Amino acid sequence: MEQGKLYYQDCHLKTFQATVLACEHTEKGYEVLLDQTAFYPEGGGQACDTGTLDAVRVLDVRERQEQVVHYCDGPLTVGQRVTGTIDWDRRFDLMQQHTGEHLLSGLIHDRFGYHNSGFHVGAQVMEVDFDGPIDPQALSELEQQANALVWANLPVNCFYPSPEELPTIGYRTKRELPWPVRIVQIPGGDTCACCGVHVGSTGEVGLIKILSCVKFHGGVRLEMVCGSRAYRYIRDVFDQNRKVSQLLSAKVLETATAVEKLQQSFHAEKFRATGLEKQVFDAIAESYRDAGFALCFQPGLDGGSVRELANRIASVCGGIAAVLSGSDEEGYSICLASTGEDVRPLGQATVQALNGRGGGKPGAFQGTLRATKGEIETFFKQ
Ligand SMILES: [Zn+2]
Repeated sequence: MEQGKLYYQDCHLKTFQATVLACEHTEKGYEVLLDQTAFYPEGGGQACDTGTLDAVRVLDVRERQEQVVHYCDGPLTVGQRVTGTIDWDRRFDLMQQHTGEHLLSGLIHDRFGYHNSGFHVGAQVMEVDFDGPIDPQALSELEQQANALVWANLPVNCFYPSPEELPTIGYRTKRELPWPVRIVQIPGGDTCACCGVHVGSTGEVGLIKILSCVKFHGGVRLEMVCGSRAYRYIRDVFDQNRKVSQLLSAKVLETATAVEKLQQSFHAEKFRATGLEKQVFDAIAESYRDAGFALCFQPGLDGGSVRELANRIASVCGGIAAVLSGSDEEGYSICLASTGEDVRPLGQATVQALNGRGGGKPGAFQGTLRATKGEIETFFKQ
């Protein structure tokens, strides 16, 4: 059952010799059969290997009727001896992710009885679904336990038990499996029916990091990374945090506290600025007392402040207040306000004449204008 499948005999085999048994040109490229191969075909949630057969590139590998088919970008001659080389970095990464997933899934199954209901290794992270809820505290404990199994460097044994032996092995599976059943056993870690390729011992997984856990179809979906992915992820997060720590002049492990303090002082400053703005607005409004129509340009205001100032001026000027903030290059935001008049007709006329848009209610009209200060002043003089 493992005859010719070198990837099952030696999970670390990177190159091998083989004889070409068939090579057929199809619409998918050149379909090559070998007498033996270290190329793992896609299966069990694990992606296939890529690599080369002599100078020919192996782009995809599938299992078809017990045969491993290599989809190549060039032809090979039947009977030819070839050297196969698999893309080892890719394979080792996939083995690290897959074996790490076994360790965590085994622990979750032991603790909650949940099954792994979905599994996908993406380019950046691995998604693993479970059919029940897991709280953050349990997740943190499981991650620690999974890493302890990594550091215990346990062997990963793969075997085909006899029909008599199989029922005596308590293994994880969700469905009836076709015979023969391949069992992957990590003593003290996990026992699972699986056709994938795994590292030889758990130490090779290196590190397991769970990145997120969200509710998914009545259970949870975890995002996790193992091995070199976990290292790169932690390195990048560390680099990011170091930059933040330099900006805040805080220790690397105290950035959150520093951000919290910064946030508090930001809110205090904002509160102070609002108080000062109110005083300034009152003074500006006072300068328009009994002016009738008031046209006021004030730099650097956001939409809320433009409205606030317009309301204050309107409350004392005895007519319509028009407040604008912006620049000739970027345009202006405008608010027309009045305590007695319906400002909407003037508002609509303004946005029509000055390339703008806006809307409002009787006492206040707000919008934006694509016009210069000079054009706006000329319009309101009329
Ligand atoms: Zn597996």
